[in-house]
Amino acid sequence: MMRLNKTNKSSLSCRETMDLIPSFLDSEMELSTQQAFLKHVKSCENCMEELRVSYLFHESHRYLDEGLYFDVDEDFKKMFKEKNGFVSTAVRARIMLLILIGLCLITLMLYWTGVMV
Ligand SMILES: [Zn+2]
Repeated sequence: MMRLNKTNKSSLSCRETMDLIPSFLDSEMELSTQQAFLKHVKSCENCMEELRVSYLFHESHRYLDEGLYFDVDEDFKKMFKEKNGFVSTAVRARIMLLILIGLCLITLMLYWTGVMV
């Protein structure tokens, strides 16, 4: 089994992506890995199908509870959208935090240099 190359997480192979499916479904994934995972899955039909099938197995117990009312395709789309949205929100939050820290530093610098009193 191929191990995930830790220095290059920005692009994953199909093999690596498929190995990551269980942790993706269990939400046990680092943000940077999840980003790379989503990026690959969105551009690779094979892995997307593999993820969809795994999701079906993962959620199969719900068939027993909800029976015909459980629409796996609709549910899969919803789950994918949520995970995808979560990544963008988390990334946006990090960028906002960096901007905020930057602004604080600039303000402090201005005080120190005596420009603002
Ligand atoms: Zn793939």
